[in-house]
Amino acid sequence: MNPWLIATPTVLTAGAGLIAYAARHPRAQLFGPVVSYTNSPRKLAITFDDGPNPSITPQFLDLLTRYNARATFFLIGRYARECPSLVRELVARGHVAGNHTQTHVNLFRTGPSHTRDELRRCQDSIAAASGIAAPPKWFRPPWGLRSPWLGSAVSELGLRAVMWSLLPGDWRASNEQWLIDRSAPIAERGQHAAANSTGDILCIHDGSHDRQNADRTHTLAALAYWLPRWRDLGLEFVTIEEAVSTPAL
Ligand SMILES: [Zn+2]
Repeated sequence: MNPWLIATPTVLTAGAGLIAYAARHPRAQLFGPVVSYTNSPRKLAITFDDGPNPSITPQFLDLLTRYNARATFFLIGRYARECPSLVRELVARGHVAGNHTQTHVNLFRTGPSHTRDELRRCQDSIAAASGIAAPPKWFRPPWGLRSPWLGSAVSELGLRAVMWSLLPGDWRASNEQWLIDRSAPIAERGQHAAANSTGDILCIHDGSHDRQNADRTHTLAALAYWLPRWRDLGLEFVTIEEAVSTPAL
């Protein structure tokens, strides 16, 4: 059954343009609250989607350790079950494991019970893989796509939804320089941090939703380029937990 047939009257009368905005825009709150910025211009939250990826996640972890950087990994549940040691490793290094659904489903096309099931199964997969009792507290919808019933599913599981302030599009990078250039807005804003009240949430990918062992070497190279430069600008690399905690840096 098409889940939109049972959408709330408010949503159905909202119009296609507004629905598209609410479902896709990284700062739209119409389908439930989302976090799109950190609470300080000095805090940069680096977030990785679609892992863990055994072919390259270990290299991202080593790079982050070199710069004493903590980050957030929004994991696909079935990959977490396939690679539990990687989940344990990233948690042991101080990073946050977040929920990115069990199978990377399009939640705009998924009905209420299927939506809840995808989120719950991913919670279980990450908890089982990590060996920690506490399930994830943070959630990122695949492709950033949301629906009118996502907000209640997210809050029922004690989750908070996270979007981003910068999505450079690393999955379509044909070389590292393209991706380095696309990530420049973070440094530009970092140079004028005193004029801002919020900081960036960067969304990049250590894996791919459609295959395991995806090649993310351009992403790794661009991050290796920017980390020392961001550090020189005074940016702190924080988890999404730290990105919203008080006091702000
Ligand atoms: Zn994804």
